[in-house]
Amino acid sequence: MAAGSPKESRQGPTKDFSMNVQIKPNDLAAFWMPFSANRQFKKAPRLFVEAKGVHYVTNDGRRVLDGTSGLWCVNAGHCRPKIIEAIKQQVETLDFAGAFQMGHTRAFEAANRLISIAPKGFEHVFFTNSGSESVETALKMAIAYHRAKGNGTKVRLIGRERGYHGVNFGGTSVGGIGGNRKMFGTLVGGVDHLRHTHDLSRNAFTRGEPEHGAELADDLERLVALHDASTIAAVIVEPVACSTGVLIPPKGYLKRLEAICRKHDILLIADEVITAFGRLGTAFGSDYFGISPDLITTAKAITNGTIPMGAVFVKSHIHDAFMNGPEWMIDFFHGYTYSGHPMACAAAIGTLDTFAEEGLLTRAAELAPYWGERVHALKGLPHVIDVRNIGLIGAVEFEPDPAQPGKRAYDRFVQAFEQGLLVRQTGDIIALSPPLIISKDEIDQLFDIFSKVLKNAS
Ligand code: PLP
Repeated sequence: MAAGSPKESRQGPTKDFSMNVQIKPNDLAAFWMPFSANRQFKKAPRLFVEAKGVHYVTNDGRRVLDGTSGLWCVNAGHCRPKIIEAIKQQVETLDFAGAFQMGHTRAFEAANRLISIAPKGFEHVFFTNSGSESVETALKMAIAYHRAKGNGTKVRLIGRERGYHGVNFGGTSVGGIGGNRKMFGTLVGGVDHLRHTHDLSRNAFTRGEPEHGAELADDLERLVALHDASTIAAVIVEPVACSTGVLIPPKGYLKRLEAICRKHDILLIADEVITAFGRLGTAFGSDYFGISPDLITTAKAITNGTIPMGAVFVKSHIHDAFMNGPEWMIDFFHGYTYSGHPMACAAAIGTLDTFAEEGLLTRAAELAPYWGERVHALKGLPHVIDVRNIGLIGAVEFEPDPAQPGKRAYDRFVQAFEQGLLVRQTGDIIALSPPLIISKDEIDQLFDIFSKVLKNAS
């Protein structure tokens, strides 16, 4: 598709929201919002009532440009007809069928369709309901795989500092964001962390992959020396660590990490909950970086954010290791009531159709040069200590104010929202990741608003 979004994305709200949708302060108390400063939010809530294309509409009738694809998930833009139709038809035809010793055709169709766009060597899909569940599934699969191969001591899991792998116990444990861990005690045992690669002293204001830091992959050798490879099951990394503020791997880092994993028979899990489905201009982030992990975890854009779903992509050597017991026995003692839910599968198929028809899996590559120019034009604005970009992702890092960590970025996030732009704040960083259907005009609008906010903020 040429670099102009489908007409639909530029249409405004479908209903007339000139009348306010009233919500009283008391109506806000019952919902304890996740990952939110609840007390602050409820004093001045930001509430959406509708979305279309690259815009949200607030309850007071304002259009807000979605600079974050919802939560990194609405890659094809909001309320896309093919996806809506697929879900509607499915709910009227087969509302639920499980996947424990029974099945339904949609789940097999969705799995085959997903495999058709997966990196080489991935032949199986295990369905979950979220990124967090995909992570738990992959971690358990890695340990069980080694056990099935007779290597029962390989149980240790390695994550990375500043990594984010969801919020269940395994994912929190391999995750490396202090704030996400501190409330929850000792977490899962037998976990260690590689150093992160974010180094502004060497790589500030890099376009795309940073030049310096591939050698940080050798940190895995340190952990092998410390724990012994015979105890290590898997390393899990996000190709681009987005939730922690868009940490882009240095050139060659991921390939080097992969080689060390191979050397020691350690499985490599690529957590692609954000980087899968076109965000970098390739179907998967692993394609972008030229790596071939053993397991890939996904969620979010798999259904374009419409119905909760996750999927773990599995290579045959892993899958087949589970298929050696008696045929009548369960091969993997793991799964969810809603694994392969009919509505989620229909939504995934509708999403893949939309991606294919509009060339969205590669569209970020077309837009990336233009996008990168606009991201890097933010250099020099007050308190900006780094800007970085990859695919259709951008990030701005602000000089931290030690007295009020994160406040500078938070204030800019609020001001951007008031000016009609949704961005994502995490600590002292603001991340940008609009739907892949965004046009160049809309990219201009996004940066016009954002740079004005950055110029005017104190
Ligand atoms: N893994 C990664 C890399 C993510 O970015 C996220 C969410 O942002 C998750 C896991 C968790 O996904 P979910 O919120 O769907 O559980």
